[in-house]
Amino acid sequence: MKRKIPCLCDNTFTAEIPEEIDLDRDSSYLGEIENGSFMSFSCPNCGKLHKPEFPLVVTWPSKGLRLELIPEQDRMGFYRRKKEKGDNTEAVIGYIELADRLAVIRDGLEPAVIESLKYYLYLKAAETSPENEINIWYHGRTAAAAQDGEGAALEFHIQGLKENSMALTHIPFSLYEKTAGDYAKHPRAELFISLRHKNYLSVQNMMLPGNLK
Ligand SMILES: [Zn+2]
Repeated sequence: MKRKIPCLCDNTFTAEIPEEIDLDRDSSYLGEIENGSFMSFSCPNCGKLHKPEFPLVVTWPSKGLRLELIPEQDRMGFYRRKKEKGDNTEAVIGYIELADRLAVIRDGLEPAVIESLKYYLYLKAAETSPENEINIWYHGRTAAAAQDGEGAALEFHIQGLKENSMALTHIPFSLYEKTAGDYAKHPRAELFISLRHKNYLSVQNMMLPGNLK
């Protein structure tokens, strides 16, 4: 549908915003979401780049995936939402989390395990930089992992450790496998349950003020 996008230069322009995308039918979206160019628009008047977030349904039928994207600015509204989606739609909040989750699915990994590994990384980052606002995102398997099992690792990006730069960290694939084993045996363990709020699975749920849960 057409949406109005207001710019700081006082110009308002319209952009065609999809309400639902199917990644099997149009795989070019995958690359765009990955490299951040998805839903980027330049103001025709001043050239400023806009990355507005609108609600979106993302389906990937071959992976059995159906995601609802909630714009970051609606995060608190989502937590207060009474109505639960009756189907198997999973929620992600913000485009960065969308890109992260699609990378996890692309790499054939279990989202609950990735989110719990992120939680460990948050705890580690909070020890070294307690003052900073930290964000951690899954990026992908390292090249070593693609060739053989030796030295295989998962790469995460950490935002907020150093000013204006992204830090990289790697978690050995063996630790992923160990955590995946724990998850298979005890999916109702406290850590895994705490990662989920209704249809929203995210380490962000661990950072919630208690009254929202
Ligand atoms: Zn403008």
